[in-house]
Amino acid sequence: MTALLIDGKAAAAELRAKVAGEVKRLAATYGLSPGLAVVLAGDNPASEAYVASKKKMSVQSGLQSFDQRLPGSVSETELLALIARLNGDPAIHGILVQLPLPPHIDATKVIEAVDPNKDVDGFHPTNVGRLSLGLPSLVPCTPLGCLKLAKTVHPSLVGLEAVIVGRSNIVGRPLAQLLIGQSATVTVAHSKTRDISTVCRRADLVVAATGRPGLVRHDWIKPGATVIDVGINRVASEGGRYRIVGDVAFAEVCGVAGAITPVPGGVGPMTIACLLANTVKAACLLAGLPPPELL
Ligand code: NDP
Repeated sequence: MTALLIDGKAAAAELRAKVAGEVKRLAATYGLSPGLAVVLAGDNPASEAYVASKKKMSVQSGLQSFDQRLPGSVSETELLALIARLNGDPAIHGILVQLPLPPHIDATKVIEAVDPNKDVDGFHPTNVGRLSLGLPSLVPCTPLGCLKLAKTVHPSLVGLEAVIVGRSNIVGRPLAQLLIGQSATVTVAHSKTRDISTVCRRADLVVAATGRPGLVRHDWIKPGATVIDVGINRVASEGGRYRIVGDVAFAEVCGVAGAITPVPGGVGPMTIACLLANTVKAACLLAGLPPPELL
């Protein structure tokens, strides 16, 4: 068997086109121009690359992009003051604080300082709580992208056995809530899970979000299952260069799975497209308008 490739780039381009259309409509009808502020503290090269992509895609979709670059030496007080300013700025509808923050800054404090109505990353406890209660909320972008990609293969997830490998606050846990909301039967596995290959092998849908290159092997996958690979891992390549690989041993899993996302070109582009969609949603809600059905 050779798995169907789930084209995250194409799905993301489609979603960005919808966002761009909605941005035009909001400007023409209401004079509303959704604005996204991305806060980057320090010079972590991976974070710089993500922020550059987010800015490029925001601008291409017609959003206002407000970059906030701070030195790695910025104090927590200064960062919190910036968040307070962004919270109060009516031109800004979405605030994203790029993680990880420098080690002297308490990331929880910063996340809690973001206005939940502008929390387009969906990390604020208010949004986390609302998601877990099944209430409308701003939902974290990566899990949203995973759900969207899974639905290209399974338009209905009702009754599906889903196993998520990884229980982080930014991927595994919120994805579990989203999948429960879709009436899937959800298991969350992690580093302490016993006999993890057997746990995964019963799943119709396996999502890997561990940061461990090639962790998920062919014998973890039920023949025909759908595999979503969230991992973005830099591994050494020839000539002192790096290449990006996922958490799934792609070549061998392709021989067993029914469908699989590639890395790169799978969940990554969808994460950014979902961020743009969340910004438009936040702008509408802040303006008292019904949010568009983008996702
Ligand atoms: P974290 O390090 O926060 O969490 C990793 C999770 O994987 C933990 O729950 C951990 O278990 C689990 N884990 C680690 N090793 C194993 C193992 N051997 N067996 C089973 N479970 C294991 O990572 P993130 O969730 O932040 O990120 C995961 C990956 O996704 C990374 O590669 C990251 O770069 C990528 N990522 C990609 C995004 C995208 O847009 N595509 C966005 C965000 C992240 P435990 O809790 O027990 O320690």
